[in-house]
Amino acid sequence: MSFLADLGRKLTSTIKNAVIQHHRRSGAVLFSDTTLRDGEQMPGATLEPADKLEIALALERAGVHSLDAGFPASSEQDVAAIQMMVGKVKKPVLTALCRTVKADVDAADFALRGQPPHKRGVSLFIGTSPLHREFKLQKSREEILKLIGETVSYAASKFEVVAFSPEDASRTEIEYLCECYRVAIDAGATTIGFPDTVGILTPQKAGHFLREIQDNVPNIERALLAVHFHNDLGLAVANTLAGIEAGAHVVQCTVNGIGERAGNASLEEVAMVLDLHFDQYGRRSKIDTTQLVPLCELVQRLTGIRPAPNKPVCGPTIFATEAGIHQDGLLKNPDTYLPFRPEKVGATGLQLVLGRHSGRRAVAHRLQELGLDSGEPAVISLLEQIKQLPKGVMLDDATVRELASRPRSGA
Ligand code: MN
Repeated sequence: MSFLADLGRKLTSTIKNAVIQHHRRSGAVLFSDTTLRDGEQMPGATLEPADKLEIALALERAGVHSLDAGFPASSEQDVAAIQMMVGKVKKPVLTALCRTVKADVDAADFALRGQPPHKRGVSLFIGTSPLHREFKLQKSREEILKLIGETVSYAASKFEVVAFSPEDASRTEIEYLCECYRVAIDAGATTIGFPDTVGILTPQKAGHFLREIQDNVPNIERALLAVHFHNDLGLAVANTLAGIEAGAHVVQCTVNGIGERAGNASLEEVAMVLDLHFDQYGRRSKIDTTQLVPLCELVQRLTGIRPAPNKPVCGPTIFATEAGIHQDGLLKNPDTYLPFRPEKVGATGLQLVLGRHSGRRAVAHRLQELGLDSGEPAVISLLEQIKQLPKGVMLDDATVRELASRPRSGA
């Protein structure tokens, strides 16, 4: 190796290490989004390259630190999508998924050419659990360690940002798992990931795994620790938070929690918990919470996957209520029945739905909003008509006008 090339390599490695140490010391939680890769793996969620660019730009506005842009070796469409993002997505690091195969790293290098070196990376994975070793890969522990060392080192010769994740980590023997991480970091991995690939952990067990890793991987301080949880038991967000409490630096999430099987940890939920509970976690993130609902709505529209109406943070009815007592309280002060206000997450305001459970105050409020007579007799008349409506009917403005214009009984 020439003197200059050697010097260049040493300089790059010094800068890489300084960046890692900066992130480790800052205590910030870095969001790595995988909507465009794991999210897209959800049946029916297929996105066109132009859709992916639109979502990537919205993720950039929301403040994610990095985004898993696709799996170049898996499809031409993924390559096309990543190439569209190059040069346009400026702040987040764009990472491409790779197996521990040199040709996958080359495909990622090709897809990401033109992106500044510190804003492009690869994320390598190989199954490490007994199930993956015996049935999927038919490789021994030693063969897998050798592959990790060789391919991570190859990736580090082409990329400044190199993540390595042992797939099915949560079902891998802890000593072997730590050995995989040690080899990956020695070979140049800048981030090591802990994926709960089949979503099997509880928060307590997730925290235990992460503490074991930090205690037993001797070179751990040279890398960032990332977590990736699936929601098969409805615990992905809780496990992600346990990971943060146990010292994870990077959390991998998807918008609306979409993803393989029951999905992934939902970005908007993790971001809101951190925002509202700084006193507990003591960790900031760069997520702009006012961008969350617009981001969730964009992903819904482009993937066609609609969350449940009551989905936390972004469900379409979470700021709507029909209950009289709640409506009365909300009109006096919105905080009476809300954990956070709609504008905090970029949602449009409260919706006081008129229905069988509504009270006088909400009815009068709506009549006033529509510029109609809101005197006591008008309110009582409308309320009586509403109570006789069939189950499930929600009143839009036109219906309210129509009912309010009907002649009152006895009038
Ligand atoms: Mn996954």
